[in-house]
Parts: sequence; C-alpha cells; structure tokens
Amino acid sequence: MRPAPEKPGSANQVVRVDAAVVGLGPAGSTALRLLADAGISCIGLDRSTFPRNKACGGGISARTLPLLPPGILENIPHQITSGISLTFRGEGSQNQDFGRPIAYQVRRDQFDTFMIDAARSAGGQVVTGVEAISARQEGRGFVLTAGDMVIHARSIFAADGATSRILRDLDPGSSRHIRENPSLRPFTSAEAFGHLRHPIDNRHVAIDLGLVTGGYAWSFPKKDSSWGLGVAGFLGPLSDPRGEFARYLNSRKATVGDAEVLTWPLPNFRSVRHGRIPGLFLIGDAGAILDPFLGEGIYYAILSATRGAEELIRELSRKDVEPETAVARASTAYARFVKHALWPDFSQGARLAQVLYRFPGLFFRITRRHPGLLALYASILTGKHDYRSFSRAMILRALSLLIPGRTPLSGPAL
Ligand SMILES: Cc1cc2nc3c(=O)[nH]c(=O)nc-3n(C[C@H](O)[C@H](O)[C@H](O)COP(=O)(O)OP(=O)(O)OC[C@H]3O[C@@H](n4cnc5c(N)ncnc54)[C@H](O)[C@@H]3O)c2cc1C
Repeated sequence: MRPAPEKPGSANQVVRVDAAVVGLGPAGSTALRLLADAGISCIGLDRSTFPRNKACGGGISARTLPLLPPGILENIPHQITSGISLTFRGEGSQNQDFGRPIAYQVRRDQFDTFMIDAARSAGGQVVTGVEAISARQEGRGFVLTAGDMVIHARSIFAADGATSRILRDLDPGSSRHIRENPSLRPFTSAEAFGHLRHPIDNRHVAIDLGLVTGGYAWSFPKKDSSWGLGVAGFLGPLSDPRGEFARYLNSRKATVGDAEVLTWPLPNFRSVRHGRIPGLFLIGDAGAILDPFLGEGIYYAILSATRGAEELIRELSRKDVEPETAVARASTAYARFVKHALWPDFSQGARLAQVLYRFPGLFFRITRRHPGLLALYASILTGKHDYRSFSRAMILRALSLLIPGRTPLSGPAL
C-alpha cells in the first residue's frame, strides 16, 4: 500500500506510514522491498542520489545469494571468485581454489542501484537525495523530518549506516556509551579501486596478513579488470589507515591513479544495544551488524533487514493485536534474533580475530604446512559453517594432526 501524503496547508508534506526506512544501502533497500511486497505502507529515503559509491570491497559471499532479489546477478557485472591467494607481508603466495563460487565481486554503485530498483518494482516508495535530519518518538510512534517531509511512522528501520543519525537521535545513550568505552569504537579502513602491475588470478581474492596492524589487506577482482584494494584493522582502530593502505599498494605494486582513497568506519558489534526502543529496527551497519573477523557486512545487512521485515510483516498481519502492539512485538522479536543468533557467533568471530590478527605469521606457517585449513575460509563464505562450528572444525583438524597417519584433510569434507 502506498503511503498517503497529506498537504495540511503548510510547506511540509506530511506522510503517515507503518514503516519508514532510513538509508537505502543493502539493508534499507532489502527491508523496503520486502515490506512493500507484503503490502505494508512504507517509505524509504536516502540522502544520496544513486548510483553512488560506498567504501566497500564489494565481495558478496555465496551465502547471500538466496536473500537477493531475483535476477540481480544476471543484471549487474560481477566477477566470480572461487579461491584465495594468501600472502604474509606481501610474500610467499599460497593459492587454493575451492572449485565452487565463494563470493561474487561487484561494484557497490551498481549493486545498490539494482537493489533500490527492485524495492521500487515491489511497490516501495523511494525518495533519494533527501537526508533524514531528525527523528523522535511521539506517543507510540515516531516523527521523522527529512527535506520538506514530516513522516509519522509506527516503526523505523534505521539503515543509515555506521554513523547512524537515527540511532543517535532516538537512543542518545548509545553514543555516550561508545564515547565512554573506547573498546567499542568503530574499526577503521581505507580503500580504493586500482590496478595491479603484476596481475594475479582474477578468480581468486588476494588476502595479505601481517602488513596491516591487527587486520588484513585485500585485493578483490572486478569484472572490468580493476581491483578493489583495501585495508582494515579488527583489534582496534588503525592509527594511520591511509599510511597502511599506501604500504599495501607498494607491496602489491598497485596503482590507484586518480581514484579517491576512502576511509570509513567498520562498526564494532558490541557498541549497539538492540531492543531498547519499541518499534525501532536497527539493521545493517546502523545496528553494528558486521562480522568482526572478516568485516563482512553486506550479507548481515541483508539478513538483518530480512529478519526485521519478516517479523513486522508477521505481527502486522495478526488481526488480534492493535498495530502499535504488533510493531513493538516485532521489534522485540528482531532484537532477540540479533542477541541470540548473531551476537554469540560474532563473539566467537572476535575471539578468532584476536588470535589470528595478533599472530598472523603463526597462522600463515600453519596453513603453509596444512593448506587444507584454508578450506574453512570458504566454508564461512558459503554458509557451511558459522564461527562457532568453524572454530570446532579448526580444533578438530588441529587435533587430528596429533594422530599418526592422519592429516588435517582426512576429516569430513568442509
Ligand atoms: C572499506 C570497506 C570494505 C568493505 N568490504 C566489504 C566486502 O567486501 N563485503 C562485505 O560484505 N562487506 C564489506 N564491507 C562492509 C559493508 O560495506 C557494509 O557492512 C554494508 O555496506 C552495510 O550496509 P548498510 O545498508 O547497513 O549501510 P550502507 O551501505 O552504509 O548504507 C547506508 C545508507 O544510508 C544513507 N544515509 C546515511 N545517513 C542518512 C540520513 N541521515 N538520511 C538518509 N540517508 C542516510 C547513506 O547515503 C547510505 O546510502 C566493507 C566496509 C568497508 C568500510
């Protein structure tokens, strides 16, 4: 159902909806598409006009595929990657092909534009080039101001990224909480598109350990033969992301020409508390739903948007509860999903990050002797493992080394 605008005689356009979606990156466009498709009255807005770029490697893991709108890969250029090339401080490349796609490498300007078009095709009202400038609670709903619009919404899907204004406005305690706890600050990154002077296999993602303090550097191949190049730290904010990036470019003999080097925060999942405000769905980066080991966020943006939208659709379809109660129940169920399904796994991912990024040389030496361990990386991206089952599998593989005659590859297929 399309939201009905009202013109109450002032310059402002008043809109009343069941759901306002703020931010139309992968999280927001997914929520808007699903809500509109289910006939929920909704509106989605983004301050950018599309196509727009977003600092991102653009690697979409294979496990994301079932959650994407139909036809997306047929319609945007993408490079399939089925393997990994791992180096330590730029040296000693270990290559492994897993024989199946582990990720699809896209450019975010193209991907995000297609996702918004899909939301529009589902009947979602899309407003771009308009910034949400304030949000407040009023009664059991919300009032948003954006450009010349005043939006009264029963629920808000905050999908406005790592520096979410909606979160700051509606839950100011959250920003205070981060300010007072330096360990909750976002991680940092730097990235740009460029070219490699010595080309490598473009069916593989290239990952370097050891060059970046507490994190990794990557080269992700794109269809147009350019590479998405970047660095990110996961043990704390990089003190000099541009310097670390320059070091990586140098080691890869890569050039970025005139391309802009973007630095961007990667939210720390521990920083956001979900479920504090009935009717507020913090999805994607706005909800800090970003994997703390690989920095994968697109899958989680789309997964969280899907779960949030599904809860709202389910509750609003009930005839026995009033809409305000339905909205509150849905946001509570969504927060429960984040806390019980995602956070325990992210905690395990953060533990792995502590070990691997603190001792990258040790990990590199182990994988050199036992390259089968790299298959675990593919198993995360294809959805065969999460971090908890991944860790169990790692431990079992390590233990199997102690049994004479067994190798880490002699366990069950990953
Ligand atoms: C350098 C880098 C590399 C990365 N590489 C990968 C990768 O290869 N694979 C992967 O899966 N993840 C990657 N990530 C993470 C991924 O980019 C994010 O997790 C993902 O974009 C989150 O999607 P989102 O929709 O939540 O937010 P975003 O994509 O950030 O979208 C937020 C949207 O909100 C809009 N907005 C913001 N404020 C307002 C406002 N006040 N009013 C209206 N609109 C607003 C913005 O214009 C934007 O369009 C990377 C991140 C970084 C920083």
